[in-house]
Amino acid sequence: MKNNIDIARPYFGKEEENAVIEVLRSGILVRGPKTKELERLFAAYTGKKHAIAVSSGTAALECALKILAVGENQEVITTPFTFVATVNTILLNNAKPVFVDIDEETYTINATKIKEKITRQTKALLPVDLFGQCCDYDLITALAKQYSLHVVEDACQAIGAQYKQKKAGSFGDIGVFSLYATKNITCGEGGIIVTDNEMFARKMREFSNQGQTENELYAYTQIGVNYRMTEMQAAIAIEQMKKVEERNAKRIQNAILLSRALLRYQDKIHLPSTKNENTHVFHQYTIRVQPDQRNHLVAFLKERSIGVSIFYPKPLHLYPHIQRYGYNEGDFPVAERIAKEVISLPIHPLVNEQELIRIADTLGEFYAKN
Ligand SMILES: *Cc1c(COP(=O)(O)O)cnc(C)c1O
Repeated sequence: MKNNIDIARPYFGKEEENAVIEVLRSGILVRGPKTKELERLFAAYTGKKHAIAVSSGTAALECALKILAVGENQEVITTPFTFVATVNTILLNNAKPVFVDIDEETYTINATKIKEKITRQTKALLPVDLFGQCCDYDLITALAKQYSLHVVEDACQAIGAQYKQKKAGSFGDIGVFSLYATKNITCGEGGIIVTDNEMFARKMREFSNQGQTENELYAYTQIGVNYRMTEMQAAIAIEQMKKVEERNAKRIQNAILLSRALLRYQDKIHLPSTKNENTHVFHQYTIRVQPDQRNHLVAFLKERSIGVSIFYPKPLHLYPHIQRYGYNEGDFPVAERIAKEVISLPIHPLVNEQELIRIADTLGEFYAKN
């Protein structure tokens, strides 16, 4: 029996273990020195003035849209090919998700098609740095400026990714990250918001803490929630942040090795591509195959202990509760087609070279028979 190659695997060293023990013994469990340190690290890493640690990436997105006063009868422009959290936060704010089809090569929002979707109701743009690759931010930020729109960058899958040498998360008025278990670095659950805007930062910090003024007990200035991160999470995340470059480098190296090994099946498999101006951090290594062979291939790989996954099997506009906003099959042909073709293969830092060869050989074995 061959060992299992998981699609994602979180891993921690003694550093994370010791950091958690230190917190437990300190008696300070929430919004203490570890959280402050983590926020400093993220602000410095992304080159932003402010960072706020919260309980998840979803919570981070919610804080962002809340503080931008996204609400009823307003529209937020985003991609239909993303994790559902992106769109859930729009719906939770009673706004309408307005989708734009995706780019055929990067699978991120096709920025050249955003303009035609901007209306008087448009409040914000919500691009997603899918699979670890940034969107076309020259175009997106130019449009935002021209039409006075806010940009919230969903960089949940893209810590460390770059567009024209600038870090993911830094392009919007507000950028958000996730530290969920499967992300490139993790503390189980967690989210980070970054911004240069001091007022946004203060308001998001307050909103995530019951609407309470910073450092002033029971001074409530606005509605709020409890989206605080714990010190245990922050302590783990600090140690993970110290390893982010090394881990991303390993993902990139694995992606290069796997692409090299898969090159000989190029007529069957469409390999991931990275735009020249981007540094792709391969949160997912996603190939495309013939749609009528996909289920069979997924089963074949799983039977051979290769943990593949489909991100994402269906574009979001085709789920009934989202379709209600006036969407139909055929509206976003690129996203619809690609959703039928994608398979993500394991390339996380614990996958070794031998295992990458095994993945490629297993695909070869499948195509020798099919
Ligand atoms: C993971 C993810 C989120 C949500 O993050 P959580 O920490 O799981 O709440 C949002 N958007 C995208 C694109 C993600 O991949």
